[in-house]
Amino acid sequence: MGRVLVVGGGPAGSACAIEAAKNGLEVVLFEAGSSDRDKICGDGILPDSQRVLAHFGLLEKVQNSGTYMDKLTLYALRGEQIDFKMPVITLRRSVFDRILRDAAVDAGAKLYQDTSIVKTERTTDGVTAIDSKGNHYKGDVLALATGAKTSLAKEAGFEFGNAQAVAVRGYVRNVRGFEHCLLWFTKDIRPAYAWAAPSPNGLMNVGLGYYFDGQQCNAQNLLMKFVQTIGKDAIGTDEFVEKPKGWPLRSGLRSDAYGDRTLLLGENAECVFEFTGEGIGKAMQSGIAAANAISVAEQPYDKEQLATYGRELEKLRPIFDGYSRTKALFGNPISNYAFTKLLQNSSRARDALSDVLCENISPKELFSVKGLVKYW
Ligand SMILES: Cc1cc2nc3c(=O)[nH]c(=O)nc-3n(C[C@H](O)[C@H](O)[C@H](O)COP(=O)(O)OP(=O)(O)OC[C@H]3O[C@@H](n4cnc5c(N)ncnc54)[C@H](O)[C@@H]3O)c2cc1C
Repeated sequence: MGRVLVVGGGPAGSACAIEAAKNGLEVVLFEAGSSDRDKICGDGILPDSQRVLAHFGLLEKVQNSGTYMDKLTLYALRGEQIDFKMPVITLRRSVFDRILRDAAVDAGAKLYQDTSIVKTERTTDGVTAIDSKGNHYKGDVLALATGAKTSLAKEAGFEFGNAQAVAVRGYVRNVRGFEHCLLWFTKDIRPAYAWAAPSPNGLMNVGLGYYFDGQQCNAQNLLMKFVQTIGKDAIGTDEFVEKPKGWPLRSGLRSDAYGDRTLLLGENAECVFEFTGEGIGKAMQSGIAAANAISVAEQPYDKEQLATYGRELEKLRPIFDGYSRTKALFGNPISNYAFTKLLQNSSRARDALSDVLCENISPKELFSVKGLVKYW
């Protein structure tokens, strides 16, 4: 059985480490941050993430540590309010990521916390990861799960363009005692979207995502503008108790996420949905797929040996394409108006939207002309 070096202890890296250790592989997991590193995030653990957590036996633990909600309110183009069912857990990433890393250690992985890998090398015999203190770690395969940071993947020969989006979030007090999430796709903040999600400790995670689509913007300023206007009316405060911070988003799912002795996981493989900016679930799914591909591969762990990983990732393509298409449809005022009316008037369409978000049906099925006819 091979030795896997997993770089990055976020959801993708930890999921890979758990699954690989359970498969009997020798696993070393490196995390640059401290044990309470808090990834900038909306903290929303959506149904796809919940399924993975159930697979690992961690769902109850995460649910008990976080805030559970079963409803989401969407504000459409002109502020039309649409409520629909959706199971969401929110939990600070410092806690969530630690639960996953602890589970990796429990499964048998060796964790190096506060250890930043600055260089990796591949030879015919294996791979080496070198940390910032000059320590060398040897293995057979590298799983790169460094999130939106791509320097190691670039050094390994993978090409990247600029990140396509940025998202920014801060915390306000939950002064109105909200028990469900709010999501805005209103025209005042287009092409951005915004959210407010109740979090543990009486707080709300309030944030905004912005797809550049040819234009750059200052997302921090846009979030402040949103909070001082629409946000304040809805959530009752514009005072951040924790200042907003931003982070890039890499979305779209790359098709070349593996090479000789190397796999890209999570955001390194651009496993984030366009339109919603959701990436935790798909990051973990990519981690599991990578672990299983490594488990069935053999020396020399070349690209051909690791191709099962690419095939597993491609199975996610229809849902990624569905979200890209949904983003395009919502960007068009006519189709946006038609789907808003559909969602307002048809409880079947609202149920179908819940099913899309729960991944029981593909977004392609609802957000299409066929969907418009079928669910009207
Ligand atoms: C503001 C914002 C809100 C979001 N909201 C949501 C949401 O509500 N729900 C959702 O599903 N998704 C959300 N996302 C997307 C989600 O955060 C990411 O898709 C997800 O975290 C990707 O997981 P990952 O494991 O690939 O990377 P990350 O979570 O970024 O983890 C990468 C890890 O690698 C470590 N690392 C980096 N470089 C090195 C190195 N050289 N050596 C060792 N370790 C290293 C980092 O410290 C980090 O812990 C949001 C993103 C943003 C920016």
